[in-house]
Amino acid sequence: MMTTPIPKTMHAWRKHRGNMEAVWEEIPVPSAPPTGFLVKLIASGVCRSDHNLLTNEKQPSWFQQQFTLGHEGCGTIIEVGDCVPSNCGFKIGDVIALLSVPGCGQDDCPECSRDLPQLCQTGYHSGIGQDGFYAPYATIDVRGAVKVPQGVTPSQAAVATDAVTTAYHAIHRRGEIKENETVFLFGLGGLGFNALQLIRAIGARVIVSDIKQENMDEAKKLGVPEQDLVPVGRSVRKFVEEKGLVGKIDTVADFAGTQETFEDAQYIVRQAGKMLCVGTLNHKNTVHMKIGIRKRLSIIFSYGGQTQDLAKALELIQQGVLNPQVEDGKLYDFPAVLKALEAGNIKGRIALLQG
Ligand SMILES: [Zn+2]
Ligand SMILES: [Zn+2]
Repeated sequence: MMTTPIPKTMHAWRKHRGNMEAVWEEIPVPSAPPTGFLVKLIASGVCRSDHNLLTNEKQPSWFQQQFTLGHEGCGTIIEVGDCVPSNCGFKIGDVIALLSVPGCGQDDCPECSRDLPQLCQTGYHSGIGQDGFYAPYATIDVRGAVKVPQGVTPSQAAVATDAVTTAYHAIHRRGEIKENETVFLFGLGGLGFNALQLIRAIGARVIVSDIKQENMDEAKKLGVPEQDLVPVGRSVRKFVEEKGLVGKIDTVADFAGTQETFEDAQYIVRQAGKMLCVGTLNHKNTVHMKIGIRKRLSIIFSYGGQTQDLAKALELIQQGVLNPQVEDGKLYDFPAVLKALEAGNIKGRIALLQG
């Protein structure tokens, strides 16, 4: 196989502390870290949190003064680190999805040792304070690599690493939603749509509420029956009463997280039910102690996901159970794509391709 030589430098979209606009800058091409790979990127997903990463400088201690943005990636392994075991299951030429926060994996890490790598402070954070994927080349630790199955496109794989993985972790691992449940889902953004498909794949009944009619129309297209779509603008609590759902909602999956949805959730969830919180549209919400205790509710928060969630997510995409909405763009157009995303002009997600 003819391989093109790896260049010494490349152009990447970078965050510089003090500058709120992304900088298109020439930097050295890294080499494979001892326990990871050098990857030639194929696709990198744009996330709304890129805007926050550019403009909010109150960030954790590991954030570098300058770093390459992009935390959703898919690429081809072109170099393997010296300490990667030969039986690791990966080889040069493999197309892999890149999990941006795989954790350090050390036994003495307070997070990784308790199976919480997504909260690890010491491991690498690709595109989140450290060099990420808006570049032609990037590195990834072996812990953050998952092989892309046949039939899954690089763009799908890239966006799967964040929006699908996070939704999978929430629905399956934190919410532990089961087939016989009735779930009330608030919020059909990028994450919420994945959650909807995941819940339906489990076989649970799902009732959906969103403030945008076009999102409700999409939910209908995905097969949610009319009776389980809360009309836009209708009182959720009234809807639940009228449809005979009082005492029947096992889990409220809140992918919005507004004052209103968090409040409604406490009223509509059944006794001993679960409130699964993923959205943070409002930074503060109110817990009704009397309701929470008398109904013996569980409020469960979920954040991020892990390589095992990513592997499952890719499998579900391959099987056609999950179909993440993604369109393709060009790496060079990142600032324009991010602006369009911010302005609400993009449905689903955009993956940036090289060139
Ligand atoms: Zn993201
Ligand atoms: Zn760790």
